[in-house]
Amino acid sequence: MSANEVSDLVTKEDLLEKDRKYVWHHMSAHNENPMILASGEGSWVTDVDGNRYLDGMSGLWCVNVGHGRKEIAEAAAEQMMKIAYATLVQSHVPAIELAAKLNEWLDGEYRIFYSNSGSDANEVAFKIARQYHHQNGKPSKHKFISRHRAYHGNSMGALGATGQAQRKLKYEPLGVGFQHVPPPYCYRCPFGQTKGSCSFQCAKAIEDAIVWEGADSVAGVIVEPVITGGGMIVPPDEYLPMVRSICDKYDVLLIVDEVICGFGRSGEKFGHMNYGVKPDIVTMAKGLTSAYSPLSATAVSAELYESFKDKEATSHLRHINTFGGNPVSCVVALKNMEILEKENLVTRSAHIGNTFRAQLEPLLDHPHVGEIRIFGSAMGIELVEDQVSKVPATADRVLKIIVGCKQKGLLIGRNGDTVPGFANILTLSPPLSSTDEDVAFIIETLLAVFDANQEKG
Ligand code: PLP
Repeated sequence: MSANEVSDLVTKEDLLEKDRKYVWHHMSAHNENPMILASGEGSWVTDVDGNRYLDGMSGLWCVNVGHGRKEIAEAAAEQMMKIAYATLVQSHVPAIELAAKLNEWLDGEYRIFYSNSGSDANEVAFKIARQYHHQNGKPSKHKFISRHRAYHGNSMGALGATGQAQRKLKYEPLGVGFQHVPPPYCYRCPFGQTKGSCSFQCAKAIEDAIVWEGADSVAGVIVEPVITGGGMIVPPDEYLPMVRSICDKYDVLLIVDEVICGFGRSGEKFGHMNYGVKPDIVTMAKGLTSAYSPLSATAVSAELYESFKDKEATSHLRHINTFGGNPVSCVVALKNMEILEKENLVTRSAHIGNTFRAQLEPLLDHPHVGEIRIFGSAMGIELVEDQVSKVPATADRVLKIIVGCKQKGLLIGRNGDTVPGFANILTLSPPLSSTDEDVAFIIETLLAVFDANQEKG
């Protein structure tokens, strides 16, 4: 086989021709020359040309246990041969086992509603929150408070909750009833305050929004423990507990979106555990199966679930989806969680983040590094034109680092569309199974690429 023959029958040119003709790529402008991945092992992926890259983003923040886990493939195949599909109008063994396992991990009593994606899980959370208030004598409670910069999904409700204008503008009107407040973004405090001596106006903004909107109209607050895709915005430790007590004060439900932060990414089992709060609803996807198979879940506190149990025909949740809780996906999730436990990958995640923190310190002297923010093993490096003015780095400067890393065999990401001119935050979230050598490779590569890109102006 010559270098660009993918198999005896297919060449890379064949594939590219079909890709250019038939595939609509996600999120990017027309891409004439996409990287075509063929295989993966551990933290590494290989393209059809045989080039190897360290997958520094775990795909899209999702392949927590790393690539090429044969035991997951075997468990899926075995389940497919037993029974590949069963509905959750009734029940099936893997869904039951997984719901029980998730309860162990959540450290509380939750009912598990299964769906397919993170967006779905959030839609379900919104419907449950509204219906809960309806059935508890407060039918006017229907609005949700979210934060600017947050991403909660691509469907009309989840996009309504999203706080990134560029992702929304051409698709409006979206689901209604979503209000946004400024994020807890200490590096660029929207309230002009300084971390360590502030009065937590970011949390107060949530209370103000509830009061201004009228507490009788607000059903819930949705937050990620840290805003990940919107730029790794890590709140002060006090923030989430304050949000929890504001929700309690106004009978507003706290929905925590753990789509990225869950399943060890935060260095705890779930990101809200880093802050010691107990959500009313937890949504999860990505790391639930390490993306080996599509599955998401909305975990609802047992107390809330009570009001859906009524014998009246109208009190159940009127929501069904064909694929949610597919038995194969549930088995994949169980095997994935078994690996996370057996290999202590939650602890490993915190260790990876601590290694980044210690060994990337020299980057703080780089003229274009404004701040490095780490949560578990997820990291954001905010690039600026200069450290004093904090003017966001130009797209060109950000791209140079991303391309430089790719040339050296490291794939990294960038924050999603936020405000024009603010796509200046590099993101990393390597598999939690990354070896010490993998972590050293990430660090060496970043240091070398930043070193080669020192020029000002
Ligand atoms: N919530 C968060 C925090 C996310 O980052 C994402 C996706 O990146 C979603 C929800 C939506 O998940 P999905 O792409 O599976 O619909």
